Amino acid sequence: MCGIVGYIGEKIEIVPFLIGGLRDLEYRGYDSAGVVFLDDGRLNVVKTEGKVNRLLKKLQDRGLTHKKSTLGMGHTRWATHGAPSDDNAHPLTDSSMDFAVVHNGIIENHVELRRELQSDGYSFVSDTDTEVIVYLVKKYYRDNLLDAVRQAVKRLSGAFAVGIVSRFELDKVILVRQGSPLVVGIGSGAMYFASDVNPFLTYTDEAVFLEEGQIAVLTSRSVEVMDYDGSIVEWESMHIEWTPEMASKGGFEHYMLKEIEEEGKVVRETLEGRVNLDGISLPELSGASIEQIGRLFIVACGTSYYAGMLGKYLIEELVGIPVEVEVASELRYRRFPVYPNDMAMFISQSGETADTLASLRLFKDRGIKTVSLVNVRGSTIDRESDVTLYLRAGPEIGVASTKAFVAQLALLYLIAFQWAKERNALDIREYASGLLKLPYQIEEILSDKEAIKRLAEKYYSFRNFLYLGRGFYYPIAMEGALKLKEISYIHAEAYPAGEMKHGPIALIDEQMPVVAVIPRGYIYSKTLSNLEETRARRAPIVAVATTGDSDIVRYTNDVMWIPRSMEIFAPMLCIVPL
Ligand code: GLU
Repeated sequence: MCGIVGYIGEKIEIVPFLIGGLRDLEYRGYDSAGVVFLDDGRLNVVKTEGKVNRLLKKLQDRGLTHKKSTLGMGHTRWATHGAPSDDNAHPLTDSSMDFAVVHNGIIENHVELRRELQSDGYSFVSDTDTEVIVYLVKKYYRDNLLDAVRQAVKRLSGAFAVGIVSRFELDKVILVRQGSPLVVGIGSGAMYFASDVNPFLTYTDEAVFLEEGQIAVLTSRSVEVMDYDGSIVEWESMHIEWTPEMASKGGFEHYMLKEIEEEGKVVRETLEGRVNLDGISLPELSGASIEQIGRLFIVACGTSYYAGMLGKYLIEELVGIPVEVEVASELRYRRFPVYPNDMAMFISQSGETADTLASLRLFKDRGIKTVSLVNVRGSTIDRESDVTLYLRAGPEIGVASTKAFVAQLALLYLIAFQWAKERNALDIREYASGLLKLPYQIEEILSDKEAIKRLAEKYYSFRNFLYLGRGFYYPIAMEGALKLKEISYIHAEAYPAGEMKHGPIALIDEQMPVVAVIPRGYIYSKTLSNLEETRARRAPIVAVATTGDSDIVRYTNDVMWIPRSMEIFAPMLCIVPL
C-alpha cells in the first residue's frame, strides 16, 4: 500500500503541500517517493528511493521548495514490480516528458503490454508495471488527454489508482480508480486529490469518493466524473467530520502511541448514544434482523479478522446461531456454499480492504444480506453493504491497528446483545453497566503503562514468543501475537492453550517466553494446567490476569493486570496491555 496526493488550482507553493500530503500518507508504508509539478510550462519531476525526507532534501538542494505552481502530484511507492530505486520511483514519465503518471496497485497484464509497446518503438527505463500506462497514453494521444486515458485504461487489467498529467494540457489532471481508493477534495478555486482524506483535511471538508471503474477530470474549478465509456456520472460530495487535529500526532512521539492512548475515548464514542442502563439502541440493525437468519459469516483480514473471531464466540454464546469466521483472501478464491437464510458481516477499518470488498461482492451476487463494520464513512465497503455500522475511532494512522480493534469489539458486543435480545429476549440491562465501564477500565490500564514498559524492557531481547489463550481469550492471544510481530519484528505464535500439547510444546524452553491470557473465569483452571506444562519446561511466563488473582503469581514470572469486570468483557481489557 502506498499513497497519491495532488493539487490543481490557484498558484501555491506546491512543494510544501505535496510533501505535507506525502507525510500524511506515510503510515501506509512505502520505499520511495516522488513529485511532479508544473514549472515554467514544463513538467518537473524529482524522485528518490527512500523516505520523504530524502525527497525533500533533493528538492531543497535544487532550490525548488518555494516554487509556485498551479499543478502537482506526489507519490509514495511500495514496490511490487522492480526494486526500490530512483528510476522505479514514481512519477514515471515518457522520454520527452510529455506525460507523467503516478500509480498505486498492480497492472497484471503489464508483460504483454510492455512487449507490444516496445515493438511500437517505445523504450522503457524502469522495471515497473506502471510504465506501460505512460506509453499507452502516449500511443493513443491525439490532442485529447481524456480520450487517450480512456483508451489506455480499457487495456489495463489489475487493481489501480492512477493520476495522469500532460505538458500539452496543463489545465487538468485525470484520475482513474479501479480497485485502489482515490478521493477528491473540493476546494474553492482549487481541487485536491489523495488516497485518503488526510492530506487535504486542512483545506476542505467536502470530498468525493471515486467508485470502481470511474475516471475523474479535475480542473481548478470543476470535477467531471465518468465511466470508461465516457458516460457522465452525477457525483455527490460528502461532508468529512474529521478535523486535522484528529489526524495529527497531538504531542505523541508516534501515531500508534497516540492511538493506544485514545482507546478509552474511542470505545466511549463508539458506545455513545447506543447503550444506556435501560438497553441498547442500534437503529442501523433494523435492516439486518436476525429473526430469520440461520447462519452468519464474518469475513475480514488481519486484526479485523481477530475481532471477528471474538464476534463468533460472542454471537454463538449469546444469540445461538452458528457463525463462520473467514479470512477474506482465502474465502474469495474458494467455492463456498451458502444458504438463502445466511447473513454475512464484513469488518474493515478503512472500508477499502481489497479482499474483504471482493468477498462482500461475492455474497451480494448470491443474494445474501450484508452488514459491515467500518471506520471510514463513504468508503467502498460502506457504500456497497446493505447495512453499515460505524466505528467511531477517528482516523487511524498507525499501520498496526490498535484503537480500531477495540472499537470493533465494542460494536460486536452491542450487536451480539441486540440480536440476543431479539432472538432470546436477553435482558441487556445486566450487561449495559459492564459495557459502560469499559472506557474507564481501559484508561485505568493505560494509566499504569510504566509497569508494562518495564516488562517490555525485560523481555525485548527474546527472539520467539508463544501466546496462549482459550475460549474468548484465544482470539486475543492471536491479536497480541500479531502486534508483537508487526511492531517489534519479534517472532510470536499464538495457540489455543489446549492445543499446545499437540506439537508446539516441543519448542518450549527457557528461551521461549509464554504470554498467557488468563483472566479469572470459566476456563481459568484449564489454562492454568497448560501453564504448569510450560513451567515444567522452564519457559518464562508472563500472564495477563485479573487484579487480585493471588494464585496466578505462583505460576508466573510477571503479570500484566486488568481490572475486574464481568467475564464477557475481559477480552477487551486483555488486549490493551498486549
Ligand atoms: N506496481 C507499482 C510499482 O511497483 C506501484 C506500486 C505501488 O502501489 O506503490 O511501481
